Amino acid sequence: MIASRLKAILSQIKQAEIRYHRSPGSVLLLAVSKTKPSSDIAAAYQAGQRHFGESYYQEALIKQRELGTYAITWHFIGPIQSNKTKAIATHFDWVHSVDNLNIAQRLSKQRPGNLAPLNICLQVNMSNEPSKSGISLDELPKLCEQVALLPNIKLRGVMTIPAPEDDFERQRQPYKTLYQAISKLDHFKLDTLSFGMSGDLIAAIAEGSTIVRVGSALFGSRN
Ligand SMILES: *Cc1c(COP(=O)(O)O)cnc(C)c1O
Repeated sequence: MIASRLKAILSQIKQAEIRYHRSPGSVLLLAVSKTKPSSDIAAAYQAGQRHFGESYYQEALIKQRELGTYAITWHFIGPIQSNKTKAIATHFDWVHSVDNLNIAQRLSKQRPGNLAPLNICLQVNMSNEPSKSGISLDELPKLCEQVALLPNIKLRGVMTIPAPEDDFERQRQPYKTLYQAISKLDHFKLDTLSFGMSGDLIAAIAEGSTIVRVGSALFGSRN
């Protein structure tokens, strides 16, 4: 089941790359395995998937221990409390959900010296809902400047989780706006747009996504 869903999603991504004039292979599939057992990750891995995303660090560490021999690239995509930064800096390769300087500073300081710099995306809130995580578009240039100076992290780009929308054109809008804002920050050499989930990955690819974060379409719905 997981293997056949994986195949279908990869084929959707490939078709969207062609349709929206994106370079072949420019969109990475991040398999979001939060709440799902290690056996599901193993099934996707055996079908060729290598990048997995988790939102809860304790749950992720258990799975990482169970899957210790697998060559997985782990991405942290959930909210970050400051007392969890050491574990996250130690056990992940990527963090998509950085939305303040204090967290970025802690991740940089706590990244073990024997590991490559931690890849970071800044989370931007495009929906103007104050309850949601993420900085506003106005705050983005300043935070980029500050985070880019930190030694043990590498600023790669931005992540956003727009409010859910059924309409394709409306799904594209927040990604288009954020893409345009990022284009003006070219001196940071950002190469990553973490755009799109199960419900809007095609719209996200149309607007420049380089990483789609897909959970339920691959692993089934969560409780
Ligand atoms: C859960 C989650 C996803 C995956 O969502 P689906 O709709 O199941 O594909 C993607 N990104 C983030 C940040 C998430 O928390």
